Amino acid sequence: MSTNTASFKTKIVLQLLVWVPLFATVYAIFTLWGRMITLTDLTLLLVGYVLCAMGITIGYHRMLTHKGFEAPDWIRAIFLILGSMALQGPALNWAATHIQHHANSDEDDDPHSPLKSFFHAHVGWILDDFRPDLQRYAGPLLKDKLVVFISNTFFLWFALSLLIPFLIAGWVGQGGHFNLSAAGYGLLWGGAVRLFLNHHVTWAVNSVCHTYGGREFVTTDASRNNLLIGLLAMGEGWHNNHHAFPRSANHGMHWWQIDPSAYVIGTLEKLGLIKSVVRIAPERLAVRRIRADVEEERDVLPGLHLPTVHLPGVVMEHGTAMAAAASTMAEVVSKASVHQSPL
Ligand SMILES: [Zn+2]
Ligand SMILES: [Zn+2]
Repeated sequence: MSTNTASFKTKIVLQLLVWVPLFATVYAIFTLWGRMITLTDLTLLLVGYVLCAMGITIGYHRMLTHKGFEAPDWIRAIFLILGSMALQGPALNWAATHIQHHANSDEDDDPHSPLKSFFHAHVGWILDDFRPDLQRYAGPLLKDKLVVFISNTFFLWFALSLLIPFLIAGWVGQGGHFNLSAAGYGLLWGGAVRLFLNHHVTWAVNSVCHTYGGREFVTTDASRNNLLIGLLAMGEGWHNNHHAFPRSANHGMHWWQIDPSAYVIGTLEKLGLIKSVVRIAPERLAVRRIRADVEEERDVLPGLHLPTVHLPGVVMEHGTAMAAAASTMAEVVSKASVHQSPL
């Protein structure tokens, strides 16, 4: 009975976490008829959104989950705390869920595939109280004291993410007195609306970017590159690129694929603050694009027969093998293994 009660309480909390920011955002828009948003509120919203989004994209995703670069503890702590402030679960849970996604993309064990339903991929899987298997998918991270500490203190960072805009809006421009009403609006715009945007833009990577957009690289999942989500999600919308090359610190693979997270990573690298940034060599990108071209050709000409070539540990079509011959066999096999491994 206690388990059922706990589960019921958890589901209520999850419902509140999902719907309160949504209704608060609707309320915030409604208030615009009587009170223009102040510069302080707008700044809190935009700065808070960008910082927390980068906590997710750079901290939780590219650094922690995929090990796209190495950073000293103080930088890791900053990014993981910012990620915690986006209220998408503790870093350990986020990483384990995401590794499970890469290991089973658009298959039965994918936590949030749109093949089940678009709503499920977007938010339904959260409302269903999905619990990741930490030991199985994030075992090594359980030995990382910093990651465990920030995960265990998750709600402290979340509370701070609400308290900070509340206090700033209450003091700034209020003539030396704390204005409770202004503080409330700061909490509304810099807290609830900011959370709503952080949530739905990240969730759109799971739903929209596995449903709508183009595919440049062949992968075994339905991942897509989506310009709108690419812009809003600090570069995470180039999701087909990401599934093709999970460890790459850059998700944009062309100059026009805007990837703000990659720009920040590049700047930190130039400043000597982070190292071992993973980037994909142009020849590896070229080989994967040729594979994509062959797949497209087969789709356009369904009668086209491409003989299958069997190589140790990898199966590919004749045209692909010809192209891959320009590279080395080790490259082909390593590509196949990279595709299997989320890390
Ligand atoms: Zn994905
Ligand atoms: Zn990923």
